[in-house]
Amino acid sequence: MSPLESLIRKQIEEAGPMSLSTYMDLCLSHPKYGYYMTRDPFGEKGDFTTAPEISQMFGELIGVWLADLWEQAGSPEKCILLECGPGRGTLMADILRSTQKVEGFHDSIDIRFIETSPVLAGIQKQTLSGYEVTWHTTLEELGEIDYPVFVVANEFYDALPVKQFERVSEGWAERCVGLNDNQLSLGLSQPSQYPDMPAALSNGQTVEVGLVRQQVFEDLCGIIEANGGVQLIIDYGYRTGHGDTLQAVHKHRKVPILEKPGECDLTAHVDFQKLIETALDKDMQVSPLQFQGQFLRSLGIELRAAMLKKKATAEQREDIDMAVKRLCDETEMGQLFKVLCVYSRVDGKELQPVGF
Ligand code: SAH
Repeated sequence: MSPLESLIRKQIEEAGPMSLSTYMDLCLSHPKYGYYMTRDPFGEKGDFTTAPEISQMFGELIGVWLADLWEQAGSPEKCILLECGPGRGTLMADILRSTQKVEGFHDSIDIRFIETSPVLAGIQKQTLSGYEVTWHTTLEELGEIDYPVFVVANEFYDALPVKQFERVSEGWAERCVGLNDNQLSLGLSQPSQYPDMPAALSNGQTVEVGLVRQQVFEDLCGIIEANGGVQLIIDYGYRTGHGDTLQAVHKHRKVPILEKPGECDLTAHVDFQKLIETALDKDMQVSPLQFQGQFLRSLGIELRAAMLKKKATAEQREDIDMAVKRLCDETEMGQLFKVLCVYSRVDGKELQPVGF
């Protein structure tokens, strides 16, 4: 049994069943045994692969997209370029390479990372060596901000903990992790009434509530609203719907969520409708929710692939075609992943993000 599983069992024995969000938080972010805190999970040898790790084209196109908005914002002399959950730092490295020739852009940006994992922060330091980057573990650490802010979050929100509630006759019962026959097992808490739950669900149906995700998103909206700027979110998620989307992945395979706590990635799909409503409530501008495939195609991924292929070997050309397919095809990441941009004027200048 892993040390994290012993710790979770002990907590349950002492305090009773724990909320799934507590379980998810411990599994991913426990300071000593949390999944992200202890390893580099990406790539063929790891547990999963993300878009920037599939191809440099992903970050390069986002770089050009960001630089376009920065120009629309009047090429501000100073701005903050913030990435949430930067993984290996690959996306930022590709953004920076593709914007090298945009006059004034690199001088303007103050690069910040929000990252909780010391292991990944170490890798990011190597990937970004030569650039000045400031690391934070929470948004509060950003401190006072007086400049426009450009935020990128790829597969970040899906890693933030969610709670699950099941509709029962007497109200809503929270799904919790307890012990049954000395095994970790899922059970339901005593039903309660909660405000803001969808009214139309019938008994047995589930909703997920991402309180941490909501808080981080709201805080970022507040920062963008006050200073002008954008937030680009790319993630698995849904616009309408509900249900149990929590999943665990180990070595590129789905596994039961209670298996090997701390050894598997745990993610939950993002409720984009909730984010959209929050941003609209704050009077922010909101893009349509776009499929990743369409977003990348409209930013010119095919053209970029053709350019890269000109200087490539036959084997590399095949890899480039495969990458476009993986990122854009509807049977791969193209539709499963969605793109949302929320934004506010910079110094009175309206922004018009492309790709939607
Ligand atoms: N954006 C990267 C990595 C995605 S994995 C990519 O696309 O490759 C999720 C990232 O979020 C990891 O870097 C992980 O360490 C970080 N992370 C997870 N929970 C976090 C939290 N609560 N606060 C800050 N970073 C977090």
